[in-house]
Amino acid sequence: MSATEFEIIRRYFTRQQPQRADVIAGIGDDAAVLQVPADSELVVCIDTLVAAVHFPGSTPAAAIGHKALAVNLSDLAAMGATPAWATLSLTLPDSNPVWLGDFSEGFFRLADRYGVQLVGGDTTRGPLSVTVQAHGLVPRGRALRRHGAQPGDRIYVTGTLGDAGLALRLEDHADNTIRQRLDYPEPRVAAGQLLREYASAAIDVSDGLLADLGHLLEGDGTGASPGATINIDALPRSSVFTATMQQPGFAQPHLFYELPLSAGDDYELCFTVPQRTCEVMEAMLSNQSIDCTAIGVIEPESGIRCRKANGEVYHPVTEGYQHFGSKESG
Ligand code: ADP
Ligand code: MG
Repeated sequence: MSATEFEIIRRYFTRQQPQRADVIAGIGDDAAVLQVPADSELVVCIDTLVAAVHFPGSTPAAAIGHKALAVNLSDLAAMGATPAWATLSLTLPDSNPVWLGDFSEGFFRLADRYGVQLVGGDTTRGPLSVTVQAHGLVPRGRALRRHGAQPGDRIYVTGTLGDAGLALRLEDHADNTIRQRLDYPEPRVAAGQLLREYASAAIDVSDGLLADLGHLLEGDGTGASPGATINIDALPRSSVFTATMQQPGFAQPHLFYELPLSAGDDYELCFTVPQRTCEVMEAMLSNQSIDCTAIGVIEPESGIRCRKANGEVYHPVTEGYQHFGSKESG
């Protein structure tokens, strides 16, 4: 490793951070050594953010640092896990101190809030790319899974949908609160932990509701996949989102439905709950000031059916983001 890389690691990533008692060896050895409690299971996920693919070139460095960790904490949240550790693989075109300072600040601000310790990584030169691996813990056998939804279960989402997608569309014209949703997504960690008790299945909405609900309905590949009907007027939208859609000059009214259905990057949780448990689940989340909205129901017939509140069938135009596929689908 060159002196510069060593210097980058020392200066920007070996800073004061909460030292967890379960980190036997962190940054500085050949590998991290971590203590998993005997009654827990380790939950591991990894996500890469590539410049211009996963974030616009104009994205502030602090937002990239935040988002690289947030998308992983969102995956842990969808599993009902408590975040514990992270590793960071950073590919940089150059060692720009201002960029690195802002990036690490964005990363650690989020890490500190969730008690996550950075325990290692890798630093190389090349086109900007950030990979974070996150590790979380769940009580043995209690991880939330994608499969498990049963006909009759209600479908919920946390928070609001479509804001990040709207920010991408509006680019520089995006309202600041909308832009924050794209740049600084908040992982639904507390919701995921609570939902271990109530949800039959869960997934985080990273590629768009239709795409991610579709994954949830695929089940574990054994047996018939259930389907769903969702009420697209019930989809939770932020007040800024709705106000933007209602502006007199806004030329794309179909986005009122399309963005909450198909835009990615919201990082809310989509989950299913057996009818008899819905009331107590709603009360538990509301106690913790976590918003959730019932948007539909699981049905035996496979496929996702979209209806307006008046019962009218709606055919979505797009189905969510895929890296190696056409964006348009029937
Ligand atoms: P090795 O050559 O043994 O793979 P490196 O020289 O790549 O080790 O890294 C030295 C130490 O710094 C290791 O503990 C590694 O985990 C850590 N490290 C490297 N890059 C980063 C980074 N971007 N963030 C956090 N830790 C890092
Ligand atoms: Mg290395």
